[in-house]
Amino acid sequence: MSELHTELHTLSALQLGAKIAAKEVSSVEAAQHFLTRIKAHENLGAFLAVDDELTLAQARAADARIAAGERGSLLGVPMAHKDIFATRCDGNLGWPTTAGSKMLAGYHSSFDSTVVKKIKDSGAVCLGKLNCDEFAMGSSNENSAFKPVRNPWDASRIPGGSSGGSAAAVASGLAPFVTGTDTGGSIRQPASFCGITGIKPTYGRASRYGMVAFASSLDQAGIMSRDAADAAAALSAICGPDLDRDSTSLDVPAEDFSRHLGRSIEGLRIGVPKEFFGAGLSEDVRAAVEAALAQLEKLGAKRVPIELPRTELSIPVYYIIAPAEASSNLSRFDGVKFGHRAADPKDLLDLYKRTRAEGFGDEVKRRIMIGAYVLSHGYYDAYYVKAQQIRRLIADDFQRAFTQCDVIAGPVAPTVAWKLGEKSDPVANYLADIFTLPGSLAGLPGMSIPCGFGEANMPVGLQLLGNHLQESLLLNAAHQFQLATDWHLKRPAA
Ligand code: GLN
Repeated sequence: MSELHTELHTLSALQLGAKIAAKEVSSVEAAQHFLTRIKAHENLGAFLAVDDELTLAQARAADARIAAGERGSLLGVPMAHKDIFATRCDGNLGWPTTAGSKMLAGYHSSFDSTVVKKIKDSGAVCLGKLNCDEFAMGSSNENSAFKPVRNPWDASRIPGGSSGGSAAAVASGLAPFVTGTDTGGSIRQPASFCGITGIKPTYGRASRYGMVAFASSLDQAGIMSRDAADAAAALSAICGPDLDRDSTSLDVPAEDFSRHLGRSIEGLRIGVPKEFFGAGLSEDVRAAVEAALAQLEKLGAKRVPIELPRTELSIPVYYIIAPAEASSNLSRFDGVKFGHRAADPKDLLDLYKRTRAEGFGDEVKRRIMIGAYVLSHGYYDAYYVKAQQIRRLIADDFQRAFTQCDVIAGPVAPTVAWKLGEKSDPVANYLADIFTLPGSLAGLPGMSIPCGFGEANMPVGLQLLGNHLQESLLLNAAHQFQLATDWHLKRPAA
């Protein structure tokens, strides 16, 4: 391979797409470059499934489309999917879809999820499936049934979760962009911990069809990439109505999110919630986020103090609603239809019991039990209904805030990425979700963009939240910030 091709992983997805379109490098060469890097970085645990032949076949098809004169910003560009998106197999040919669970080990889907199909249509080339917390439940990726993911900035630390494989892959140059999902922060938090850009669009913008379900009223697909310009291009590819397949899909036309990049943010009102800067926020993260806010002000934005008074309640509310929905969604894993099946069952009940005992990990079982409890007769009104009521109040708080500001900014997480094994208490993990959960409960679009480094030189992300369907506003604010800073260009040593 020529000199020119040895640094392909340092390019953004759009830069690489432009080179492929100009035929300076073929999609096959680009795919080979990333496949080689994936093998050299296996220690990170970012990928669960790679199949060179499948990838190269897609790359050859992209090269043929280019040779036929077709153009597209992502045509021929390698990427990878979080292993929560169903990828179609023909017989045994194809990447398995496991959701990070033993329950689905080796499962071959008979169809593509809508997001995977849309990425295929854009001509981007799939490098494989990315590791994640089991059924996307977690904040550290330690709940993957197969292996943990390591943070490329410090292999003794977690990459965040649940889209930890996705974040580690982009940060270490194993894929220019990837998909992720965010139910309560799983795109924003790992993006923050790994020093990359992540966007979760408005709930319903990208179809949930073929995304292994965790909590259906919260689950949302999104993009993780080096910068906001890449995120805008890739997000445009995956969004759009899918009403026949996902009843909560929004009936708003697909949009070109790249179109509005480049507008000045002069006069943009940035709401800064005081509840995001309380005693729980570590000083290193506070300093990086404060510096980012000052940078936005330098670009002409106006800082507006706001209040989101129910921020703390988002933790108990989310950890009632999400497990409730999970306990219902995961009832389908019964050993009958698909996935793991216990050997030699005595009777049907024995089949159910042992299949689920063997197939699910501890965190998933914990959530099924919590979910079943809060939905049970006698507790439903006290927990589930109460949580739904407070969820509405949290959403209302945001609407009040958005009368005073255009965008909300603050930290993504109270600290930088912690050490593997450090938070063995599940509640300690839950508490770290405090700043991402409110936006999820309200269905709002949110981003994380790199804004500095904290303790032990670990990356810090700035969270941006917008009102419903305001993705363009968020992406443009992020883009303007990235034109003026170079945090998003910093990469770990290895
Ligand atoms: N950390 C949160 C949880 O464990 C969020 C996960 C997610 O967004 N998928 O549920």
